[in-house]
Amino acid sequence: MRIEVNDQICESNGLCAGVAPEVFDLDEDDNLHLLHDSVTPNNEDVVREAVRQCPRNAITLDE
Ligand code: SF4
Repeated sequence: MRIEVNDQICESNGLCAGVAPEVFDLDEDDNLHLLHDSVTPNNEDVVREAVRQCPRNAITLDE
């Protein structure tokens, strides 16, 4: 599964980076970057939690 973030609706609040810092990273200019763009057995739980917690529903998983 691929992880995608809609930059148009992401509000850069960093919640996803707090939940899954190994996958989501906010830089000093508040731009969100994906450190990994795939769901793996190792990160699936935290990625799904980040999807749940995103208040903008900006994260989608292409299953
Ligand atoms: S939780 Fe959602 S709105 Fe917040 S930084 Fe992550 S993708 Fe953007």
